[in-house]
Amino acid sequence: MSAAAGDAPGVPNQRATLEKGYNGLSVMTPEPLLELRGIRAGYGAIEVLHGVDLVVPAGGVVAVLGPNGAGKSTMLRVVGGLHPPSGGDIYLAGRRVNGVNPVELARSGMCTIPEGRGIFPNLTVKENLQMVTYRGMSRKEVEERAFSYFPRLSERRTQMAGTMSGGEQQMLAVARAIASDPSMLLLDELSMGLAPLIVDQLYEAVRQISAEGVTILVVEQFAAAVLDVADTAAVMVNGRVVLTGTPKEVEADLSNVYLGGEVASRLATEDNPLADPDSVPELADPDSTLEVNE
Ligand code: ATP
Repeated sequence: MSAAAGDAPGVPNQRATLEKGYNGLSVMTPEPLLELRGIRAGYGAIEVLHGVDLVVPAGGVVAVLGPNGAGKSTMLRVVGGLHPPSGGDIYLAGRRVNGVNPVELARSGMCTIPEGRGIFPNLTVKENLQMVTYRGMSRKEVEERAFSYFPRLSERRTQMAGTMSGGEQQMLAVARAIASDPSMLLLDELSMGLAPLIVDQLYEAVRQISAEGVTILVVEQFAAAVLDVADTAAVMVNGRVVLTGTPKEVEADLSNVYLGGEVASRLATEDNPLADPDSVPELADPDSTLEVNE
């Protein structure tokens, strides 16, 4: 993948910015930490993101909800530099980062927990944690930090990660992420296949991580737990962000989007009703400040 943005005329050299890291900038700049403008991406000839616009403020938790196949994971892969966009721009702390490779993004503090957890099943909990010491923390510090978030992992430290329950594996994935001292966390379906109690524990950890100043972008199919910790929520349908607002506002219209109400039928069809300016949906609550993206 080429570092296209660094070479682009008129675009500041973000390599230097990324090497400095953007944690400090995130507090100093009024700009969002992450912004997607008109992002398009696909697989082969099939486009699955049809122009995604999204703003992630520094220090905030943004939840993107959407049904199966909406393009949420693809969007996270594009943000993490793992999948090339075919159009649009990605800005990190105000710098265009299209084409910056994932290693460089990770080095500057962006950390992804992929769907399916991203742990090493054939290594023990301790060994999985040991692998994040490359970021500069000692093994002791990494373990202390991980076990303070998830005491249960301490009891399982010598167990093979792949033999733990799904919830414990997800805790380990989150523990590895926070031990790497990230500036920004990208979380893909943290709750997938887990019991509500475990999901609540994981999102409580997300709340604490956010309180430490880490910016978080999380995608989920189901809303309940994530909306409790999110500052902003967005709904993605068919490769576009179709609604954004406060979690309360989005929750109020979510069933409409998911269950085929007016918003869904006018925004989510394959033949791109958004191209038609008359197709902006009416909201259930006329006083709502919910933003409906065209
Ligand atoms: P889910 O909630 O089920 O994970 P999602 O919203 O994350 O869904 P994506 O996984 O981004 O959606 O998938 C969006 C579309 O892209 C789907 O139609 C999917 O089949 C397709 N897709 C995803 N990965 C690939 C791939 N590697 N090759 C081809 N098509 C893909």
